[in-house]
Amino acid sequence: FNTERFGQHILKNPQTAQSIVDTANLRPTDKVLEVGPGTGNLTVRILEKAKHVTAVEMDPRMAAELTKRVQGKPEQRKLEIMIGDFVKADLPYFDVCISNTPYQISSPLVFRLLSHRPLFRVAILMFQREFATRLVATPGSALWSRLSANVQLYSKVDLIMHVSKNNFRPPPKVESSVVRIVPRDPPPPVEFAEFDGLGRIVFGRRNKTVHANFLAKGVMEMLESNWKTWVSVNNVMIEDGTDFKKKVEQVLEETGFAESRAAKMDINDLLKLLSAFHDVGIHFA
Ligand code: SAM
Repeated sequence: FNTERFGQHILKNPQTAQSIVDTANLRPTDKVLEVGPGTGNLTVRILEKAKHVTAVEMDPRMAAELTKRVQGKPEQRKLEIMIGDFVKADLPYFDVCISNTPYQISSPLVFRLLSHRPLFRVAILMFQREFATRLVATPGSALWSRLSANVQLYSKVDLIMHVSKNNFRPPPKVESSVVRIVPRDPPPPVEFAEFDGLGRIVFGRRNKTVHANFLAKGVMEMLESNWKTWVSVNNVMIEDGTDFKKKVEQVLEETGFAESRAAKMDINDLLKLLSAFHDVGIHFA
């Protein structure tokens, strides 16, 4: 195991570790999922407050250290360590997720958590600062992106604190920040692949118009092929001389988004546009 590859930067500052755990407002009945516990600096603090912790750790040596740390203590019964890659692990039920994982798995971590059912109550996650600020970015701000829209479609995200690299051993190259994610419950009735598919197009060049992004290479072909599939699956008659490109442009004009730019569109705008396309059988995934 290589420190860089597995992002093994241990959180050495006890106050920081404590405030991360305090931010979760744990209840004595809570089951907690921790990803990448390392030597357990967060884990032991979670165990003080929660009913049970499942910790997924990829490095068996780290898992062994954590096991030793709780051995013979009352907390031992409350801790289950799963050795393996979080991305592939079967996740148990959990109320709360707390994690300081390597930043390589930031995106898969967020989307795996948000697609897990039943929904969790809150997640407190440490990320590279740049990633964290993109998660909380608002429409019109410099970092508003497909990532921001996708995550905020399903949750409310807040920046909790900045954590400087000196809090870790060895110190990583980048600065870190902690965010709180609260899932929208019930989740909006939108298929993620569809919303994300539209996002791929309009955020392709976020400062260009939506219309221009739909004219980008390959986009019309992809949408037309999706549309033809939809047409045949639903036994819809295609009128003679249907011009697919005109059909798309008509939706853009009628919704009023043709000259908009994704950089300034909020989630409701994106949902309106998506639903107008769906109304005429145009799909993005
Ligand atoms: N949470 C501890 C802390 O705050 O001190 C350790 C943090 S360290 C940045 C990340 C930990 O995640 C390491 O112990 C590493 O072995 C583990 N890890 C790396 N990739 C993982 C993965 N895909 N699944 C589970 N654990 C992983």
